[in-house]
Amino acid sequence: MTSQTESELMPAAFIGHGNPMNALADNRYTRAWHAFGAAVPRPRAILVISAHWYINATAVTTMVRPRTIHDFYGFPQDLFDVQYPAPGLPDLYDEIAAAVQPTWVGRDADSWGIDHGTWSVLVHAFPQADIPVVQLSINADKPLDYHVELGARLAALRRSGVLVVASGNIVHNLRSIDWSQPDGGYDWADRFDRAAAEAIRTDPEQVLRLDASADWSKAVPTPDHFIPLLYLAGLAMGDDQPADVLVDGYAYGSLSMSSYTLGVSCPSSEDGAGPGAPLPEGVPADGTNL
Ligand code: ZN
Repeated sequence: MTSQTESELMPAAFIGHGNPMNALADNRYTRAWHAFGAAVPRPRAILVISAHWYINATAVTTMVRPRTIHDFYGFPQDLFDVQYPAPGLPDLYDEIAAAVQPTWVGRDADSWGIDHGTWSVLVHAFPQADIPVVQLSINADKPLDYHVELGARLAALRRSGVLVVASGNIVHNLRSIDWSQPDGGYDWADRFDRAAAEAIRTDPEQVLRLDASADWSKAVPTPDHFIPLLYLAGLAMGDDQPADVLVDGYAYGSLSMSSYTLGVSCPSSEDGAGPGAPLPEGVPADGTNL
């Protein structure tokens, strides 16, 4: 990481986190996340919008020592043993609250922490865990355009040394997991992921049209993992900056692993196939909360 003056624009990213076993793995996705962390200037704080903090409010974590949350089922003990002991940064609440006005954000001083949508990526991108981490919840009650607008307002934080990372999966259908294709995608998953790529790379506002796709209901059966992409679209629009591919691919047919960056280009040198971490056997995928 290089040093950065506060007036420069900090990069941002959408990361397709996939299976939390990636936290313990070394594969082309985790190496791409590591490359991203190494390519950005050292941030003052990391603000993460994770698919796994999907609640009925817009809130920001304000604890001094956020706990590592193991919000999944059926995985090996090694994964439950992972800790990501990054500090919080309670003062960031005031900056976020000012940036997103007139939207109101709540303070969460004691309920959430750092969930696996965040730490499974950050253990690779920032393995030292010495940069403060703050999470912004996804308000499940709001329409899609709310999240794009909120993302655009968060662009102000990029000017004060805050790295914004959105973590989800553009295609995320756990009921359709196909164990026979660990690094393949269904045709509908591929079509939807390509349409999303076209939007985020050329005209980010078009991400709001993706719900009209014939593949929407299969690719996005619930919006929690898709919505983080809307924050990157808002950030891209806020600074009129195109997104670059960090890495792309599929896992088990119905998960896309596509990840995008703003303001830094470090595309994976490992194009082509190559699986992510394997899922544990004997556990139904839609019971894992991955
Ligand atoms: Zn997830």
